[in-house]
Amino acid sequence: MEEKIARLKKQAEEVIRQKVGNLSDLNEIRVRYLGKKGEITTLLHSLGEIAKEERPRVGQIVNDARRQLEDLISEKTAELKEKELKAKLAKEHIDVTLSGRHAWRGHPHPLTITLDRIKTIFMDMGFSVEEGPEIERDYFNFEALNLPKDHPARDMQDSFYITDEILMRTQTSPVQARTMQAHEPNSPIRMIAPGRVYRRDDYDATHSPMFTQVEGLVIDKGIRFSDLKGTLELFLQKIFHAGIGVRFRPSFFPFTEPSAEVDISCVMCHGKGCRVCKGTGWLEILGAGMVHPHVLEMSGYDPKQVSGFAFGLGVERIAMLSYGIDDLRLFYDNDLRFLRQF
Ligand SMILES: [Zn+2]
Repeated sequence: MEEKIARLKKQAEEVIRQKVGNLSDLNEIRVRYLGKKGEITTLLHSLGEIAKEERPRVGQIVNDARRQLEDLISEKTAELKEKELKAKLAKEHIDVTLSGRHAWRGHPHPLTITLDRIKTIFMDMGFSVEEGPEIERDYFNFEALNLPKDHPARDMQDSFYITDEILMRTQTSPVQARTMQAHEPNSPIRMIAPGRVYRRDDYDATHSPMFTQVEGLVIDKGIRFSDLKGTLELFLQKIFHAGIGVRFRPSFFPFTEPSAEVDISCVMCHGKGCRVCKGTGWLEILGAGMVHPHVLEMSGYDPKQVSGFAFGLGVERIAMLSYGIDDLRLFYDNDLRFLRQF
């Protein structure tokens, strides 16, 4: 009996000290030796089989063994709990020196940024922003702008026709005709019409079949060419820089008379002459003119009572000159290396 106790105790101690690696294994050992049907417990119950005078002494030995094993188990339990906590802390350790994961935020496209700047400048001058359909009737795109069906100037704006009467608009000017016709005849107008326009054109560094245009229209009593000049000079100084050179050259557009091409002093060489301005020191930036009396009449306005001016500019061209971009296609290629620079 005594030997058996000593052997069981030794066995249990060895397993607990050397083999048990976690709390659930330890619990299994506890059940095996000290549980209700455990080996030591069974020994205690079998004390009745030994001689009566031996029982207290042997009982004492079994109880001692049990207490010692219990102590060892609670010691081991504490040790294993500590170990598991350390392992958990190590595993769930947060490295505060790691750089954070930041969310990629989008931002406006360079053309949108440029268009917003253009809109803001004109809105500050009291212009409204009008919109119209990109699929337009031939009547609004050409005829109401003094370009009848056989007019040779239509060749400059060959477009994508959907039917003989419906096309992708070649300019935002139809919005002007639509706005005039939506107003009481002869009532004042001060508007810009920004938007995409379509022309059958090559796709290269300076041309695209789709581009963004802003056209403007001012109509009121007594509007003169000096109003046109003052407005556009102020706009160009704000969009580029104060003191930029502006010049007007006579030109032809079917819907204005007189008409002018407007140039700015070269933003690259400041007028000295370079590759961008082809050595002239000037860059063509927009077209403008006094609204043709026939255009006013077409939309129900009386050219004897009111007059006005109109202008049109390409947003891509202004963005290219503002940012020093030399290839128009970069705006449409969706290359993030390009877009993230703005
Ligand atoms: Zn230049």
